[in-house]
Amino acid sequence: MPVHRTWVELDERALVSNLNVLRSLLAPGARFCAVVKANAYGHGLRETVQILARNGVDAFAVDSLDDALLLRSLLPSAVILVSGYVVRERLAEAVRAGVSLTVYDKETVRALDACAGADVRTAAVHVKVETGTNRQGVLPEGLADLLETIRACPRVSLEGVSTHFANIEDPADTRFATLQLSRFQEALNAVHAAGFTPPFVHCACSAALILYPDTHFSLVRAGISLYGHWSAPETQLAAIKHMVKCDLSPVLSWKTRVAQVKQVPAGVSVGYGLSETTRRPTRLAILPVGYWDGYDRSLSSVGEVLIAGNRCKVMGRVCMNMLMVDASAVPNLQPEQEAVLIGRGGRHHVTAEELAARTGTIAYEVLSRINPTLPRIVV
Ligand SMILES: *Cc1c(COP(=O)(O)O)cnc(C)c1O
Repeated sequence: MPVHRTWVELDERALVSNLNVLRSLLAPGARFCAVVKANAYGHGLRETVQILARNGVDAFAVDSLDDALLLRSLLPSAVILVSGYVVRERLAEAVRAGVSLTVYDKETVRALDACAGADVRTAAVHVKVETGTNRQGVLPEGLADLLETIRACPRVSLEGVSTHFANIEDPADTRFATLQLSRFQEALNAVHAAGFTPPFVHCACSAALILYPDTHFSLVRAGISLYGHWSAPETQLAAIKHMVKCDLSPVLSWKTRVAQVKQVPAGVSVGYGLSETTRRPTRLAILPVGYWDGYDRSLSSVGEVLIAGNRCKVMGRVCMNMLMVDASAVPNLQPEQEAVLIGRGGRHHVTAEELAARTGTIAYEVLSRINPTLPRIVV
């Protein structure tokens, strides 16, 4: 057993299996880009990327420049795309590290040209096109101007064109996704008409990768599916209905150990705010994990953890660094015993989806909020 009190385990076999399943779905000519933003969706950036790189992944997307620089130090020749915002003062660092940037305005392109020129290097950019998500992206009416600016900047090279879907997870209504795809296609036509042939054309996230091969173009950006989770329950149902062969296994387990065992009578309150009272004599297990670690405070009195294969309900409020569970059902409960916050134990499985449903969010948030300072152990 690890010497940690609370830790995350990565199942390497599951990660590699998910990767191979997803790669088998790629349209001919499409390359695979692993989305490893947010500490690889909570899985641990270093650990995850090292496994993926060993298994042939050579393109990665991150949100921040700092993550990109870390990746560059690990992977000298991979394609590393920053999909998020970089402050202008730090653009030169990106150019120096050979990191590709997402751009959508002329000012950034000109600033890149200036710092790339000083460095005698080329800045690789991916133009993000606004097609209806109204997040980042150049509006269609600004695209021609942006392309002209890139043409006028000799140190900037157009490496990619991209967009991002707003509503691709639920296939019940594909109209908006179809509209976005046709806007993207129009933008691509404009890019080609302007004389550019960027090697990377990309718009597909996990749900698009799995359900719509016509979105693959020359690159797909897969995140959640790589980690063994579905974008939404509807995505999984549609994949089953259309007989897409896509078996995904969760990669991450989250574990801790019992710090103290305490038998208390009926009628005592547990934790801050006296929010919950024991209904019967109760064996409490005190666990060294709380909301700082990423165990959401709204799991107070409703979350369940697994100890020796038994579901044990959270009692009272989740604290910053501790929580209490009702472990009365666990025979011979001992301090130091392992408790599973996410993962399997006996016949039970606490999934990230279960915690998400209990807290009104999605698995993406549950996973990505697991505190990055907790150890990640590859098993
Ligand atoms: C997060 C993200 C993805 C990955 O989405 P998944 O649903 O996790 O596959 C792809 N593209 C962009 C721009 C993203 O922000």
